[in-house]
Amino acid sequence: MLDNASLLIGIAFSSASLLVALLIGWMNARQQSYLAYGAAGMGLVVFALLIMGLRDGRYDLISQFVPFSALLAGFALVFAGVRRFRDAQSSLLPPLLFGGTAITLTAMPLIAGYSGIGTLMLNACSAVLMFFSGREYWRGRQDAPIPMVANAMLYTLVALSFLACAIVLAADGQWVLDRPPANWAEDANSILSLVGLTGIGAITLTLHHARAARRHREEANTDSLTGVLNRRALFSRFRETDIVAGLAVLMFDLDHFKQINDRLGHAKGDQVLSDFAIVLRTELRANDIIARIGGEEFCVILPGLNRDAARQAAERVRLAFAALRIGIGDSGEIATVSAGLATGGVDETFSSVLRRADDALYKAKSSGRNQVHLAALRLVA
Ligand code: GH3
Ligand code: MG
Ligand code: MG
Repeated sequence: MLDNASLLIGIAFSSASLLVALLIGWMNARQQSYLAYGAAGMGLVVFALLIMGLRDGRYDLISQFVPFSALLAGFALVFAGVRRFRDAQSSLLPPLLFGGTAITLTAMPLIAGYSGIGTLMLNACSAVLMFFSGREYWRGRQDAPIPMVANAMLYTLVALSFLACAIVLAADGQWVLDRPPANWAEDANSILSLVGLTGIGAITLTLHHARAARRHREEANTDSLTGVLNRRALFSRFRETDIVAGLAVLMFDLDHFKQINDRLGHAKGDQVLSDFAIVLRTELRANDIIARIGGEEFCVILPGLNRDAARQAAERVRLAFAALRIGIGDSGEIATVSAGLATGGVDETFSSVLRRADDALYKAKSSGRNQVHLAALRLVA
């Protein structure tokens, strides 16, 4: 069996590799603050473990206080990182308060000469911090059930092993220690920490990469100006040859948009496009598919809506956009939108419905704009 000091050095090395991985992750994605908190936390843990592994049986105030405080501050930072991973806006106050309280509760008995009680408090507070980190993963488990629950379990296991160390010390009733405690709970704690940290590190990095990949996928499918889907995303959901019987497809095109740009400037034009996207999102249902497929052209798919309900939805959008009363000149003209609606006939392909919606849009334009035109029903293939 390895002695405890060697195990501590082993954990320090495993933590150091996790620290490096988190740091590299953070340098590639500075806005992901959870990586920075995790790396800083692991840095303190590595520092604490090295001192504890190298202190060679010494157990005076300095060789207790310095690594214990570093360890607790490290765990508090890891807790902060885990909270930020689940919610990027989460407050730093709870980890700060927990960390500060833990260090105070541990330091007071140490300074008073009760090194056994101080060691017990270190273990009890570490257990609480680990438990809280695990709880964050448990709460976020819908995000990615298997890795999140696995992380929650690993944190809980490590927390339990810290708790066991505290209980064994309490049961022994040795309130003053002249050397680091050595018992089955300490051994179990070292081994579980080694296994737990390695597992947590691997899972956390996997979660980070999965999240980054999802973000890139979302970015690739999103129109950066308006936040709705882009053309590519629309055509990856509906292939041109897909049969879309009964599907309601709307095409919108802003009226006289060139004038808006020419008179008010391109930036104002961009603003109007964003405003129109907001109108679409506000007036349509959450499961309607909204895509910007050209400069000022939007395609909307309304699953489950019949022709009449789709026409009403298009009218709602048209009226809501006009109600913004965006002035486009000196003569009191306002920005408006035209729309064409087609519903898929029996055996009709997506590209055919799109073409008919586009033809209907053209009719709306040629009939004076600011209106919704319906394509004729196609009952046969
Ligand atoms: P109509 O009523 O017939 O639709 O007239 P229109 O002026 O809206 O039509 P047209 O297609 O001639 O003009 C579209 C304009 O949209 C031309 C282009 O400069 C502008 N546009 C395209 N993409 C963007 C964009 O991303 N931002 C801004 N501000 N303008 C854009
Ligand atoms: Mg236009
Ligand atoms: Mg156009």
